[in-house]
Amino acid sequence: MVPIQMVDLKRQYSKIKPQVDAAIQDVLESAAFINGAPVQQFSQELGQYLGSKHVIPCANGTDALQIAMMALGLEPGDEVITPSFTFIATAEVIALLRLKPVFVDIDPQTYCIDPAAIEKAITPKTKAIVPVHLYGHSAAIEPIMEIARRHNLYVIEDNAQAIGSHYTMKDGTTKKVGTFGHIGCTSFFPSKNLGCYGDGGALFTDDDALAAKIRMIANHGQSQRYYHDEVGVNSRLDTIQAVVLRIKLQLLDEYIAARRAVATAYDTGFATIPQIVTPFQATNQLHVFHQYTMQLNGADRNKLQAYLQEKQVPAMIYYPVPAHRQKMFESMVDPKLSLPVTDSLTGKVISLPIHTEMDEDQLTHIIDSVKSFLN
Ligand SMILES: *Cc1c(COP(=O)(O)O)cnc(C)c1O
Repeated sequence: MVPIQMVDLKRQYSKIKPQVDAAIQDVLESAAFINGAPVQQFSQELGQYLGSKHVIPCANGTDALQIAMMALGLEPGDEVITPSFTFIATAEVIALLRLKPVFVDIDPQTYCIDPAAIEKAITPKTKAIVPVHLYGHSAAIEPIMEIARRHNLYVIEDNAQAIGSHYTMKDGTTKKVGTFGHIGCTSFFPSKNLGCYGDGGALFTDDDALAAKIRMIANHGQSQRYYHDEVGVNSRLDTIQAVVLRIKLQLLDEYIAARRAVATAYDTGFATIPQIVTPFQATNQLHVFHQYTMQLNGADRNKLQAYLQEKQVPAMIYYPVPAHRQKMFESMVDPKLSLPVTDSLTGKVISLPIHTEMDEDQLTHIIDSVKSFLN
C-alpha cells in the first residue's frame, strides 16, 4: 500500500507534472516573476469560476484577511465578531490591527459560527463579522448576511477552507461560498483545496470601489506609481504560483468530487459505529471536505490517534486549543468567557486523511483501523 498522508501532494503533482513543469519553465524564461501576465489571467479565471466581479491576488490567506479589514476602514477598538473554533489567522489579524476580537460559539453540527450567538454579541462598537467556512462546510451565510444588513455591519468571509463550495438561499438562488459577504478571502497554501506550490491568497468582491482600495492597500497604498495615498502592505501572488493555480483551478471541481468520494466512503464505513459522529452536511450547501472531521463520543481520542499512528494512519486534531484560550489573547479575552460548544468539540474532534489521490486500499485500511480500535 502507498503510505497514507493527510494530504498527498506528491501524487497529485505527478498527475499534472508535464503541464506544471512546462508552465513554470515558461515563467523562468520570461523572467516575469512578479505581476507576470498569468497573475491577471488567473485572477480573471477565478473570478469567473466564483461569479465574483473582482479577484485580487495577494501573498497568503492571512494577508487577505488583514487587507480586507484595512480596506473596510476598521479602526482600533472596533469590535469584530468571529468564531473561536478556527485556525488562528482569522483572529490574529483582528488583534494585529488593534481591533477587538469578539469570540462567539459555533453550531454543533456544522462547526461554523452560530448566527444566534452573533446577534447576542453585537454592541454599538461592532463593525464586522468574520464567519469561517470551516473544514469545507459553509457557515449559515444567508442568516449571517441578514443580521449584518439589519445592524449595518460588514461581513468578511474566511473562505480558506471552502473554495468551490456553494450555498443555496431561501429563494432558490445558488452562489459560490465566499461571494456573499462584502469581501471573501482565501488561501492557496499547498494543502488547501486549491493550493499552489508555496504561499498565495486572494480577496473577492463585487464592489468596484472596494476592489480598487484592496488593490491599492496590497500594493503599498500606491495610487499611481510612487504616489502613496495611505499606509498599505506588500502582498503579491508570484507568477510561478499563478501558473500552478491556473492549472489546478481547471481541476478544482474534480478534486472536490474526489474528496467527497472519500468522505462518502468514511460515512458509510462508520455509519454503524456508535462512538463516531460523522460530519453533518446541510442540504442547501456543498461540503467540499477540506477536512473529514468526526466527533468521538465515549472513546479516548489520544489512544485512537496513537493506535492509528501504529497502523501508519495519520490523524490530526484541528484545532487542539480554540482561539479564546490561546495565550496571545490573554489580555483581550475575558477569562470567564465560556463557549460551551467550542470547548466541548475541541475535546472530541479528530480529522482523518482526505485528499484527491486516496485509493481503495488506503481507505479500507483506514476504516478498518478505526473500527478495530473502537470495537
Ligand atoms: C489556512 C487558513 C488561513 C490562512 O491562510 P495562509 O495562506 O496560511 O495565511 C486563514 N483562515 C483559515 C480558516 C485557514 O484555514
